[in-house]
Parts: sequence; structure tokens; C-alpha cells
Amino acid sequence: MMHAPQTATTGSAIRIEGVDKWFASFHALKAVDLDVAAGERIVVCGPSGSGKSTLIRCINRLESHQQGRIVVNGVELNESLKNIDAVRRDVGMVFQHFNLFPHLTVLENCALPQILSRVTPRRDAEEKAMTLLERVRIPEQAQKYPGQLSGGQQQRVAIARALCMNPRVMLFDEPTSALDPEMVKEVLEVMVSLAEEGMTMIVVTHEMGFAKEAADRVVFMDQGRVVEIAEPRVFFDSPKHERTRHFLNQII
Ligand code: ADP
Ligand code: MG
Repeated sequence: MMHAPQTATTGSAIRIEGVDKWFASFHALKAVDLDVAAGERIVVCGPSGSGKSTLIRCINRLESHQQGRIVVNGVELNESLKNIDAVRRDVGMVFQHFNLFPHLTVLENCALPQILSRVTPRRDAEEKAMTLLERVRIPEQAQKYPGQLSGGQQQRVAIARALCMNPRVMLFDEPTSALDPEMVKEVLEVMVSLAEEGMTMIVVTHEMGFAKEAADRVVFMDQGRVVEIAEPRVFFDSPKHERTRHFLNQII
């Protein structure tokens, strides 16, 4: 699973050390440690409100932590805007509600971020967008608007759009939980193929089938803490903590 180290100092794609985060007086992340190797696939699960979204949003600085360190591909997230830009260039994110631009076509949704952030010529950006739309198997939707697509198709556009930026890390925040059941599979298939190609991924999901098939490790969070981290087989067959067992009993 380990690829060549991507920085001089560490093979970690993401290093989270002793991270605390508060929303005003609410303690949302408590002493979180997580080291993700380049090429590793992590699934994060846990009850609603346990801090899963907050954790992954801290990794691309959609939220800022107040204590501890987060280092992404060797770049520490701190007040430096240069560092924040550098990390965001390397990290793609896919949200529960797709967050596509409704007034842009599917093709433009995928091309525009490249044009704006990397001064990519339009023609190259559109060519790349088509390549990625083929990869998520919806090239025929390129000229439509997001509102004309199913949820599953929109989420695949969101994945293609993120991939157009050549990310080294992909973050997914419950990418299938807003989808009708019949559309979950088509999105998970794209994510599995991405995992098989060696993309470093952190996926917040309750799709335990995906965790079993694609994850190297599963992280269980509760009340802002990482309670348990284990390989899927161990995590599902013999969870150590009572809270993990309770959670698994509820969702499986
Ligand atoms: P999860 O993704 O595991 O459901 P979240 O990370 O979204 O949990 O939220 C963790 C906790 O932090 C929840 O109690 C939530 O209400 C709180 N929280 C999240 N975002 C904010 C915010 N912007 N302001 C205040 N509280 C927040
Ligand atoms: Mg969440």
C-alpha cells in the first residue's frame, strides 16, 4: 500500500497530532491523533455529532483547529495562507450535497476550477473534464445542468470535478447518504475504483460494505474522540470498545 515517500521528512500523506477543536465553548475534537500513509484508504464512522465532518474539514482548513498539528503532504496547516493554498491544491473534497454550481453545465463545473486556480487554458481544462467524466461514466451528461441529473450522477460529477485538480488526497463526507438507495452503488463503484488505483482517501461513511471492501483501516469516533482504529476485519469481527460494538449493532 505504501507508495514512495512524498516528502523528504515523512511518508505520511496526513499527520494529525493531538488536535483539539472548539466551536465557542463546545469541544468538538478532543486530542485526535491520526496518521494516514500515502495511498492509504481510511473510513471514518461514528454517531451523528461525533466530529467526523469537523475532523475532515480541518484537513483542508474549511475549519481551523486550535491545538495540535495537522500536516498534509509535508505542509503544516497554520495561519499561513500560502500553506493553506498549498494544502487545498492537493486535497479534493466531496460533500454529502454535491455542492455543484447550478448555473454551470456539468462540463463547466469540472473545467472552471482548473481555469480559475491554475490558469489552465479552457480547451485543456475541458479536455481534462471530459476525461474525468468518462472515468465516472457520465460523459454523455457533459452539456446538462446539475438540476437535470439524478443525485448519483451529480455526485459522480462532484467526484470528477475534484479529480480534475489532480489531488493527492481525496476527502469524502458521507458522499452517498443523500442518495436514493438505487444510486448508492454507482457512486461507491467509482470510489472503489479510485481506491484500487491507490488514491489516498479519507471517507466518512456508514457504508460498511465499502469499508470492508476498500478500507485499509476504519476509524470509529464518538463525542469528538477517536475511540478505535483497526483494520476492517478486526474492526468488524472483534471491536475492542463497548461504544464501537454498540454502534455496529445499531447500523448493521
Ligand atoms: P458528525 O459529522 O460526526 O455528525 P460534526 O463534525 O458535524 O459531526 O459535528 C460535531 C459537533 O460539533 C456537533 O455537536 C455539531 O453540532 C458541532 N458543530 C459542528 N459544526 C459547528 C459549527 N459551525 N458551530 C458550532 N457547532 C458546530
Ligand atoms: Mg457529518
